[in-house]
Amino acid sequence: MTSPGIPPVPGLHGRTALVTGAASGIGAACALRLAAAGARVRALDRDGDGLAEVAGRARGLPGAVEAEVLDLVDPDAAERAAAGADILVNNAGVQLVRPIEEFPPEAFHAMLTVMLEAPFRLIRGALPGMYARGWGRIVNVSSVHGLRASAFKSAYVTAKHGLEGLSKVTALEGAPHGVTSNCVSPGYVRTPLVEKQLADQAAAHGIPAERVLADVLLADSAVKRLVEPEEVAEAVAYLCGPHATSVTGTTMVLDGGWTAH
Ligand code: NAD
Repeated sequence: MTSPGIPPVPGLHGRTALVTGAASGIGAACALRLAAAGARVRALDRDGDGLAEVAGRARGLPGAVEAEVLDLVDPDAAERAAAGADILVNNAGVQLVRPIEEFPPEAFHAMLTVMLEAPFRLIRGALPGMYARGWGRIVNVSSVHGLRASAFKSAYVTAKHGLEGLSKVTALEGAPHGVTSNCVSPGYVRTPLVEKQLADQAAAHGIPAERVLADVLLADSAVKRLVEPEEVAEAVAYLCGPHATSVTGTTMVLDGGWTAH
């Protein structure tokens, strides 16, 4: 029996997947998708209520979703949490939209910690076990902003460009041990992270909030709609599945044609 809308795809039975930022949006969709493929999913987030809701939605799937409350501002704890994972999905992230001269330095530091240092420490904690077992899948949820810049997103664009580099280095080191590492890099996805930035985008660009979607978010996208979280989760599942053994050190871009410009 499966939850409505989530097809049962076998292939990850016996694998343990650690998904960060799994209480909401893309991370929640990834946790449910990997559990649908049979994985035991350790769903990590600082939001315990959100995790409990996602774990409830996973009931009846071939795998399982177990909640783990952790704040990734603590890189030592992040590294410890990664031990034992066969699959690591580095997904947790936040956004702040401000011109550089108004961007609080402490916010820049915190965003780099959660979105770049914590993924490094999670990878560092996961690799020894993956190497010992001769199999591992690391998927880093980057963004079109790992490949392109937008004004007023200095910390986010910096972190995502760094994550793309970290992912490639991990691919080179992991290959002899059966470990692949890739990024999944979407354009704008229909999640709370996007909904929360509409007002800030309007203020930074000096336009009404109702024009932000068409004039700012989708301005560079040839496909004029938001990506759905389930589309991103499907890409993550493919990279963890049996047909992606040779796919490593690359980026799967779901940007509606943004980077075709
Ligand atoms: P979201 O806000 O819906 O979910 C993010 C989750 O990360 C939340 O559950 C939050 O609690 C968790 N989180 C944030 N900081 C944390 C911390 N310090 N410790 C533990 N958990 C923490 O956002 P989303 O849109 O699903 O974003 C997920 C990832 O996808 C992010 O890395 C984001 O940069 C990336 N992304 C999102 C979009 C988009 O348009 N939504 C586009 C490209 C990439």
